[in-house]
Parts: sequence; C-alpha cells; structure tokens
Amino acid sequence: MARKRLPASYYIDGIKKGDRLVLSQAITLAESTRPSDRELASTIIEELMPLTGKAFRIGITGVPGVGKSTFIDAFGSFLTGQGNSVAVLAIDPSSQRSQGSILGDKTRMDQLAHDPKAYIRPSPTGGSLGGVAQKTRESLLLCEAAGYEVIIVETVGVGQSEVTVHGMVDFFLLLMLPNAGDELQGIKKGIMEMADGLVINKSDGEYEAAARRAMVHYSQALRLFPIGGSGLRPKVISCSALKGKNLNAVWENLQNYRDRTQENGYWQERRQSQAVEWLEETLTHQLKELFFKNPTVKEKLGTFRQMAASGMHSPIHLGEQLVKEWHPDSSENSAKIAKDS
Ligand code: GDP
Repeated sequence: MARKRLPASYYIDGIKKGDRLVLSQAITLAESTRPSDRELASTIIEELMPLTGKAFRIGITGVPGVGKSTFIDAFGSFLTGQGNSVAVLAIDPSSQRSQGSILGDKTRMDQLAHDPKAYIRPSPTGGSLGGVAQKTRESLLLCEAAGYEVIIVETVGVGQSEVTVHGMVDFFLLLMLPNAGDELQGIKKGIMEMADGLVINKSDGEYEAAARRAMVHYSQALRLFPIGGSGLRPKVISCSALKGKNLNAVWENLQNYRDRTQENGYWQERRQSQAVEWLEETLTHQLKELFFKNPTVKEKLGTFRQMAASGMHSPIHLGEQLVKEWHPDSSENSAKIAKDS
C-alpha cells in the first residue's frame, strides 16, 4: 500500500515546535522496518542532533509487580508538577505486544497519560533486543529534540534488557520490594552492581517496617561493591508510589547525582562512551542484517546448519566459509588486519 510521504522538514519543524503528533509520527518512522522510512528517520534525527542531549535520561528496572508503572506514573506526575516535561519510553523485547496494548500501556500510567507535560510511548513491538534498543535510542533523541527534560526508559523484562537500558541512560534506578530477599526478587548481583540508586517501593501500611529493614540490608549490600566511575556510592531510598510518599527524596538524589557527576566529568564521559557504544552496536546490527538478507546466504544457510548439526564439520569453519561466500574479500581483509595489528 502506497503511503503518503511527507518531507523531512515537516517532521523537523514539528518536533522543534514540540508538536506531539509529529513526534509520534517521527517515532513511527524510526520504528518502521521499511528502508525508505528508516532513511527518512535517520535524516530527521541527524538534522535534530544539535537539539538533543539536554535531558536527564533515567532508566528504571525491577521485577514484574514491584510497581514500575505505578512509580513512573506517580514520579512522572511529581516531576511535571515541578515544571518538568517528561517522556516515558519502554523496552520490552520479550513480548510481542499487540495494538491493543498501546492503550493498555497508557492506562497503566493513567495520571501521566492525561498530563499535557508528559508523553508516553509504548515499547516498539517485535524484533531482537538489538533492534528494539536501536529504535528506543532514536525515540529518545527525538523526544529530547522535542524539548522533553526528563526521559524515563522503563525496562520490562528481567535480563539482558537491563544492560541495554543501562547503556542509554545517565542514571539507572533499581526498584525493589520491601518484603523479600534479593534472591527472591530475582535480582542478579550484576544488576545491583549496575544500579546508580535503589528505591524500595511500597513503603506504606503493613510493609513499612519491612521497607526499613530492606533499606538497611541493601545499604550494607551496596557497601560491598567498589565505587564506580561516578565516584558516588548508590543510595537506598524508600518510597510509596501508591501514596506518593518520598518521591521528592528520589528526585533530590537524582539531581544531586547529576550535579556531582557533571562537576567531576563522569556525566560527560558516560555520554561519550555510550555514543560510541551505540555506533558499534548499530554497525553490528546493520552488518548482521545485511548478511542474513543476502540471497546467497539465505540459499545456503539451511545446508550449512545441517552440516554443523551433523557433527562432521567444524561450525567455526562453516561460519567462516559462509562469510567468505557473502564477502569474498573478507578473508584477505582479515589476513591484512591481522598482519597490520
Ligand atoms: P510493575 O509490574 O512493576 O509495573 O508493577 P505495577 O505498577 O503494575 O504494580 C504492581 C502492583 O503493586 C499493583 O497492584 C500496584 O497497585 C501495587 N503497588 C505499586 N506501587 C505500590 C506502592 O507503593 N504501595 C503498595 N502498597 N502497592 C503498590
């Protein structure tokens, strides 16, 4: 079906004005798999780059049920109440959410969804984590260009997507439950180690005492980790997203982190290394796509898979052979690179 194409200037001008509809349209282009849409999205983002980079990028993670949506709804509303504009993006490569869930996502954050200073965009559907991550990064840049001052990236899955979100934000916040040990929360040590701050949610009513104990427990646990590049030890704060309690303390901690790391240079350093990482991941992703789309590769892959499964051939040798068939100079090039290095 032929679709009406609008020129890049339409999107660029609209986003510069902070037009939410145009922002959504541009994100849709960035999420599209059609090469012409992707190219247009790339042009738009490249043009808007000078307007990006000013937001506070915050990643939020935690096991399902910890209260991420409730927290983002309450914390986002708290932030808009303080005069900030807030965009919420999500990374969820695990589920192939359908159209219906777009509404589902909005109602998960009911208050924020009706807030004129907030913009909520559900996770792009389908594809690999690498693909979803790339789309989310582009959405993040587009939201920044549209003037959003705080960007919250929620990771819904538990696992590799945390690492991905950590790689695109300034502050990685881990939400925890008050009433369970970390092993029960399915939180891996590695995730705790990545966190720039911990928030014990649901510190209200019957959970309050447990939340206090959890604060002590996690503060002690964090002391066992070496202090990271930021030079700051992650803080543990308790709050109640449901009752809107202590959200100001969470924000104060975030602001303090921003001020201190901007002073000591870690903020800028982290942004720079993330940008280089984005480039490298894009290259890997693009090359992989090119490779698997190649007709020769498509034709031979089945046979190569069978040969590997047979146990009669080295899978490594097979892989190298197929890359050679795709790109005949690859063996010469890699020999040259090995010689030069
Ligand atoms: P998510 O899966 O991490 O997004 O969690 P939800 O935000 O959907 O919350 C899961 C459940 O915990 C819901 O029933 C919420 O009402 C509840 N909940 C979330 N935050 C709080 C809180 O601060 N206090 C209490 N008591 N319940 C909460």
